[in-house]
Amino acid sequence: MKKRIPFVDLERQHAPIREELRKAALRVLEGGRYIGGPEVAGFEKEMAQWLGVDEVCGVSCATMGLFSILKSMGIGPGDEVITTAHTAIATAEAVSLTGARVIFADLAEESCNLDPADVERRITDRTRAVIAVHLYGIPVDMDALLGVTAEHGLRLVEDCAQAQGARYRGRRLGTFGDAAIFSFFPSKNLGGFGDGGAVTARDPALLKKIRMFSNHGREQKFIHEFEGINSRLDAIQAALLRVCLPHLDTWNGRRREVAGRYDRALGEIGEITIPLVPADAEPVYHVYGILVPDRDDMASYLKERGVATGLHYPYSLNVQPAYAAAGYHRGTHPRAEYFCDHELSLPMYPDMTEDESEYVCACIREYFGK
Ligand SMILES: *Cc1c(COP(=O)(O)O)cnc(C)c1O
Repeated sequence: MKKRIPFVDLERQHAPIREELRKAALRVLEGGRYIGGPEVAGFEKEMAQWLGVDEVCGVSCATMGLFSILKSMGIGPGDEVITTAHTAIATAEAVSLTGARVIFADLAEESCNLDPADVERRITDRTRAVIAVHLYGIPVDMDALLGVTAEHGLRLVEDCAQAQGARYRGRRLGTFGDAAIFSFFPSKNLGGFGDGGAVTARDPALLKKIRMFSNHGREQKFIHEFEGINSRLDAIQAALLRVCLPHLDTWNGRRREVAGRYDRALGEIGEITIPLVPADAEPVYHVYGILVPDRDDMASYLKERGVATGLHYPYSLNVQPAYAAAGYHRGTHPRAEYFCDHELSLPMYPDMTEDESEYVCACIREYFGK
């Protein structure tokens, strides 16, 4: 029988905490403190505890948070920052906004993440930092990448926008580099109810600078130590995120169960490449992306059977018009291009039932005539 399987289902995820969310929102409306204040401070403390770091700073979104990190590291015109060709454009925009040049590395074979060896090949005497994007919530091969950044004396920033809660060698992502960014865009694993993000940094002095930068370069009212921007987390988002955060590890665990069911069923189909996860990693599957020979054909086949799918992303950044002037084009990053030409994201949400994932797998088996 035909089922309707959405791509994500935030309604279902929020239903059990709806009353708590309503109370948290009202608390802010009635408390009269809309920027900063106890909800933001409370959320920052709770997230720091959850992450296992001393301090976290709420920001208006991950894009501005990443920009604030790079600016606070002193990165600017004349510098180069290496990141992956396969990511949300936000990662690269944050680099370009500083005036530095963004350099794209290609992917590791069959992986959705950058290849540390290709990062190393692209290092020049202008390179200042590397941004590791843990795309889909799957950790980058951090042992190899940390080896490269340490050897060349580069800063390492982790883009954990899709990886909140994931672990590598038992440690949460976001605690490996010099600094890390998280996004609370509504569909992310810890999603807010609008834009939002958080930053952490290993060096407390750097985090202090980031906090000041994202608040007009000030610590005290009226005294601007330097020019910054306005990139703060709203009190109402903080209050709502405080309701969601305690559920995140459970939600991520359920995503892993869904991914496990997909892995077992789809791993048997020769035409499909299931997500490659490095050794000793605990991913959080923001996206469950498979590689198939003709993903557009398969997407429409699934759509006809009520199964929604997504693309993350159909084009790697090196083929985007935005980077043509920088000399990037089709052909410069073959692995990223191959990945983006063949990737199809399957429905993934914490409350997906076994019946639902089995239906998706049955449709896929049928598509391949198995
Ligand atoms: C969503 C996302 C961002 C940007 O996050 P915003 O909070 O929307 O600014 C950056 N990097 C990656 C990998 C993302 O998925």
